[in-house]
Parts: sequence; C-alpha cells; structure tokens
Amino acid sequence: MTDIRRPVPRPSPETTEFWEACRQERFQMPQCRDCGSFWFPPSAFCPQCWSLHWDWREASGSGQLHTFVIFRRQYHPAFPTPYALGVAQLEEGPRVLGRILTDGLDRLHVGLQVKLVWDHTGEWNIPAFQPVYDSGIEEPKVMGILKKLSG
Ligand SMILES: [Zn+2]
Repeated sequence: MTDIRRPVPRPSPETTEFWEACRQERFQMPQCRDCGSFWFPPSAFCPQCWSLHWDWREASGSGQLHTFVIFRRQYHPAFPTPYALGVAQLEEGPRVLGRILTDGLDRLHVGLQVKLVWDHTGEWNIPAFQPVYDSGIEEPKVMGILKKLSG
C-alpha cells in the first residue's frame, strides 16, 4: 500500500498557539476582553471592536451543523469517499469548518447537534465534528448497537 500523506496544518504567527493547543486536544479561540466576543479563525485583533486585548478561551465544542457537503468524488488520494465536510456553529458563536466523522452520512442535516472531536493525523490533531443525538449517545455507538441488534 502506498503511503499517502494527508495535508497538515501550516501554522502562521496568529495560529501557532491554536495548533499547539490542538496537539493537547484543547480547542481554544480568542475572546475579546473589551466586548466579550469570541471569534475564529484566530487573528491579532477583535473583528467586532478592533481591540488588541484578548485571551485564549477553551470552547465547549458543542454546536449545530450550519451547512455541510458530502463528497462522493475523490479529489485527494488521502481522503477516500464518501466523506463529509461541515460548518458548525459553536455555542460561543463562531462557525468552524471541519470533517464530520460519522458512519451515517445519510442522516446529516442542517441544525443537527454536533460536538467537536479530534481527527488524528500524524503528529497533528485536526478539529472535526461528530453528530450527537438527544440521548447523548454518539453516532458510532448507535451504529454499533444497531449492527449488534441486526446481526
Ligand atoms: Zn471586541
């Protein structure tokens, strides 16, 4: 089998601390000290009030699927199809792009509750999302239970 490497982050001065926190499985984003806004992706100043005074805050990782796309044509050898990319609206406000890790692509819909999970690739941890249902049982567990019941 050919060793196909996935693209990895290339941190900028503004995102280095973000990616270092991701290595420790912590998703953090800037919060303004002056107006309280959160924003993402990280930048040097608050996009709401232009303040340079802000702190890194760990996000809840909970949100709703704002939009998504399911790829059925392969554009990169490291990403076998089908797979989904989505934009999640986090509880804190910002929208974050990420893969949606699930066995149930046909059950995805706008407004679906999702939670942040980690997509481990080499030395990097990439933020991704996973559906969460009202029961609090994560999709892969639900699929595992369904497979046991049907098998
Ligand atoms: Zn601000």
